[in-house]
Amino acid sequence: MLNVPPQAFPAPSSQQRVAAGGRAKVPLKPGRSLMDWIRLTKSGRDLTGLKGRLIEVTEDELAKHNKKEDCWICIRGFVYNVTPYMEYHPGGEDELMKAAGADGTDLFDQVHRWVNYESMLKECLVGRMAVKPIAAPKGMLPEKKVLGASARDLTPSYDWFQTDSLITIVIYTKQKDMNAELVIVDCQDKRLRGEIIVDDHSYLVEVDLDHAVQEDVAVNIAEKVGKVEIILKKKDNIHWKMLGQALESHNTFIKRTERGLFYRKCKLVSKTEVTHDTKLLCLMLPRSTHLCVPIGQHVYLKQTIAGTEVVKPYTPVLPFLPLDFKEPPRHDGAHVYLMIKIYSCGLFTQALDHLQIGDYISVSNPEGNFKKSQVQTSEDLFLLAAGTGFTPMVKLLNFALTEVGCLRTVRLIFFNKTEDDILWRNQLEQLALKSERFEVQFILSQPTKDWVGKQGKISSSLLSEFVKRSRKDSKVLICICGPTPFTEQGVQYLKDLGYSQEEIHTFTA
Ligand code: FAD
Ligand code: NAP
Repeated sequence: MLNVPPQAFPAPSSQQRVAAGGRAKVPLKPGRSLMDWIRLTKSGRDLTGLKGRLIEVTEDELAKHNKKEDCWICIRGFVYNVTPYMEYHPGGEDELMKAAGADGTDLFDQVHRWVNYESMLKECLVGRMAVKPIAAPKGMLPEKKVLGASARDLTPSYDWFQTDSLITIVIYTKQKDMNAELVIVDCQDKRLRGEIIVDDHSYLVEVDLDHAVQEDVAVNIAEKVGKVEIILKKKDNIHWKMLGQALESHNTFIKRTERGLFYRKCKLVSKTEVTHDTKLLCLMLPRSTHLCVPIGQHVYLKQTIAGTEVVKPYTPVLPFLPLDFKEPPRHDGAHVYLMIKIYSCGLFTQALDHLQIGDYISVSNPEGNFKKSQVQTSEDLFLLAAGTGFTPMVKLLNFALTEVGCLRTVRLIFFNKTEDDILWRNQLEQLALKSERFEVQFILSQPTKDWVGKQGKISSSLLSEFVKRSRKDSKVLICICGPTPFTEQGVQYLKDLGYSQEEIHTFTA
């Protein structure tokens, strides 16, 4: 029996109902939650109508299945009968119907490429498209895949050399402002994966190494010349004849959105209480991973729940808010800290809460579109956060106060239900005492009668009171994060108050 009350979720504001990025949210009927879907897929019912047979699907055949009561969709060459899934789709039936009888890969990638459809829809698999894209056979070096002539000029390249004990892979990124956040390296069981982020593109070195290497991997970055060295220690001091076998995506330079999410298993090393329902999880990256999550970006966590892989986004924070503004905190490349609210009916957070210290969980590469330069060119910074919408503000706040001297005002307006829900209240108050530029305003929607502070919900009047240019023409940046309706309302009020789209950043998946 699955220990999840079927009627209790998704609640009206649950992520299962609320599509990120301002898309329409569609209330699901009772009994149509993700957990209900998982149950149905395990029930043994024939969901494809093909009694478990897999077929080759022609384009003509696919096109015939274009109705709600008979709907097939192709994603990355695989065809799914999504008819039984219609009522369970958090984005609604109409959204799914946009790809009915057609290739829905682009649409899927635009909306939620992080959702693990292979696992969620495995019982709906009809088969493969009859004409499938030709993939480079393993072992052969594929042609570099580039997008357009302008991208070609910027295509990185790589080389490698060895000493008795070391293998060094050098990637020439052709970027002048390379930094540690743009380099993601993993080496697992002889499989090396080195990804370089170049704006919205990704370059990949992906090789099945010729020989075994030791666990620790070093990464050196010559920032100004854009040279990245990945240094591996040989397990045996023998001469390598070749670096290894190229894997399918090796030496490709493609849009980041076209690159599949990569996960590595991280160990849960600590779990501490932040409030009555929110915990700070510390995950340790493998020694063979080089990964720094940039400000404002999130990662995806993946867990198998009742036999189905479920993926949810979370925004890494710092272990605490440093009170020393002089030096940027040393980047601790070994750990990822996550501040996570555990919902009593939450599918994913309940499973997370059951993890024991020492257990492993899969963590993806970071994603997100926030740029530090947005802060560096502003004079006033306003952070509007609701509940765990505070998480992207943590690194941002620290960056603003330690590294951005041109900011005159940094103000956090933090919306919560009750005093007990305020995350890191003490730390924020201490920070406000220490910094002349930083102010924090707590606003409660369900305060007790003892609360003497501000109360209410996000509104035009509250925003006009707290979001103000320090000078008539000062450049402002307003970052906003919380439940989707909170964010959407906030954006609308800000626009009504005369702030432009460029002055507002929303955090979404
Ligand atoms: P679900 O099974 O989806 O929902 C079940 C129950 O949980 C609901 O009945 C309801 O009671 C409750 N619930 C779920 N969502 C909400 C909500 N928004 N408001 C009120 N009740 C709700 N969460 C964090 O805690 N920390 C983060 O750092 C974080 N980062 C995120 C980053 C991004 C880009 C996005 C889009 C979301 C982020 N979230 C974060 C939310 C997170 O991804 C999950 O949606 C959340 O943990 C709930 O998952 P669940 O499966 O447990 O809940
Ligand atoms: P919460 O405790 O339920 O709510 C926090 C505050 O927001 C409360 O004052 C609440 O008022 C208010 N609020 C909730 N829904 C609202 C709405 N529809 N309109 C106006 N105000 C509203 O919040 P939470 O449970 O921590 O949820 C945090 C949300 O942030 C989640 O949805 C999560 O997905 C999102 N998040 C997003 C990111 C990202 O990067 N995109 C990162 C972290 C978290 P009430 O008293 O009315 O409920």
